Amino acid sequence: MKNIIYILFAGLLIACGSSKEATKEENVDLTVKYASTITAKDLGNHLFTYASDDFEGRDTGSPGQKKAVNYLKDFYVNLGLPSPISEGNYFQEIKNEWFAKNSRRGRNLKDSENVLAFLKGTEKPDEIIVISAHLDHVGTRNGKVYNGADDDGSGTVALLEIAEAFKKAADAGHGPKRSILFLHVTGEERGLLGSKYYTENPIFPLANTVCNLNIDMIGRIDQRNKETPNYVYLIGSDKLSTELHELSEAVNKKYMNIKLDYKYNDENDPNRFYYRSDHYNFAKHNIPIIFYFNGTHVDYHQHTDTPDKIYYELMRNRAQLVFHTAWEVANREGRIVADKAKPLNKKTTK
Ligand SMILES: [Zn+2]
Repeated sequence: MKNIIYILFAGLLIACGSSKEATKEENVDLTVKYASTITAKDLGNHLFTYASDDFEGRDTGSPGQKKAVNYLKDFYVNLGLPSPISEGNYFQEIKNEWFAKNSRRGRNLKDSENVLAFLKGTEKPDEIIVISAHLDHVGTRNGKVYNGADDDGSGTVALLEIAEAFKKAADAGHGPKRSILFLHVTGEERGLLGSKYYTENPIFPLANTVCNLNIDMIGRIDQRNKETPNYVYLIGSDKLSTELHELSEAVNKKYMNIKLDYKYNDENDPNRFYYRSDHYNFAKHNIPIIFYFNGTHVDYHQHTDTPDKIYYELMRNRAQLVFHTAWEVANREGRIVADKAKPLNKKTTK
């Protein structure tokens, strides 16, 4: 296989005689090379810890959630990926007063924190791509730990692996042209609170935030797709930016060939998932988003959402799709345009 690629590559070089084409080909290989560092095994290793009973269901502000944020921080420290807040401080603190003021469901919450890591772009460092997943879950009930392996342990550990892939590329001299913020938000289960806090107190101006790719549940298979398990629901990709939607489709076709299911992207779908995870706090500021989601299943928000039920190969494919999409958004010539931006509600404008 390898030889065939070399022959094809040499053929292309001869045929085109253009160094620009060669650069393009090299770029394809690089994207594939670093995407392949996202493995089912690594995702599993992280998730069996992150969604273990030891983390007590990661309820916002709880001791289990503190273990979770320290796990994330330690990962980034070991990876050598810095925080954009201040040196060594990966936590964006959210005080209980803010929770109480901003949500009825948040009125009894203790202080909590988002976790942020940052990879600076090489050519357009002021343009930021945010990849996000929520770090919290619903805690324990009646003595049972709600592990939240799929929701959203899957998105959380995918984000770690995506960050690692970008960091490895950067270390080899292939850093992204635009900057990437790896954003783990708290308080999602209490009403999208961590992402609300971030978008009201952004570390980088929202005007410079190019897009948000949000991962919330990518480790399981739902009833609708049980015959076509290599699928993922995409929600919101075409709502604000035609370019983002087209880029996402093209990248999938080129690298992954996952079945992209748009059922929940329908404005009339009664589930209204577009409004139900953290990307919505970016979308309401006219920042183009894509929400990656596997749909619901019998273990959704039950204590039976455990890491042994995750399909790690499928999850890897979905994580690699997010990686490829982020890579393209970060490295393409022009910034994607929000051609369908809506007049902003003054209340939500910052
Ligand atoms: Zn979730």
